[in-house]
Amino acid sequence: MTTTELSPAEANTFDYLIIGGGTAGCVIGSRLAEYLPQKRILMVEAGPSDYMNDKVLNLKDWLNLLGGELDYDYGTTEQPNGKYTPHLYHLSSFSICNFLCNAIPSEMAYFSWYMYLRTHKIIEK
Ligand SMILES: Cc1cc2nc3c(=O)[nH]c(=O)nc-3n(C[C@H](O)[C@H](O)[C@H](O)COP(=O)(O)OP(=O)(O)OC[C@H]3O[C@@H](n4cnc5c(N)ncnc54)[C@H](O)[C@@H]3O)c2cc1C
Repeated sequence: MTTTELSPAEANTFDYLIIGGGTAGCVIGSRLAEYLPQKRILMVEAGPSDYMNDKVLNLKDWLNLLGGELDYDYGTTEQPNGKYTPHLYHLSSFSICNFLCNAIPSEMAYFSWYMYLRTHKIIEK
């Protein structure tokens, strides 16, 4: 997969057009290329490629990406335990960032989950 600028005339020569090279777009592009190698596939991604970009690929530094030029920085309404919703802006989007973190839910979240389990009879009390 390469990052290329195309003229409008070139863009008309493709069989498949995938808008968004995030998690789903990359899987679809990969499968199409695998099963239909003779077809021409164009993927349009708003963000840059992370190829050779140590700022993205060095996973222990992922926190530095938040709020930076590669973060869509979507806002949310005020949340009990924080309000930041990072969403990265580059080829493969948030799926480039594989990490584990522990977010402690609010009392309300625990209670909602408890009520869900009870309502659906997953637990009895
Ligand atoms: C903070 C956070 C943590 C997460 N943790 C997990 C987890 O641990 N496990 C898990 O399974 N899921 C997790 N997810 C969810 C997972 O990342 C998403 O569900 C998944 O990436 C969605 O895939 P998608 O292809 O629909 O969208 P995305 O992966 O977001 O892809 C959309 C792509 O479209 C591009 N795009 C947007 N607008 C345009 C445009 N106009 N033109 C061209 N391109 C455009 C974007 O740049 C992006 O690359 C997390 C999400 C977030 C935000």
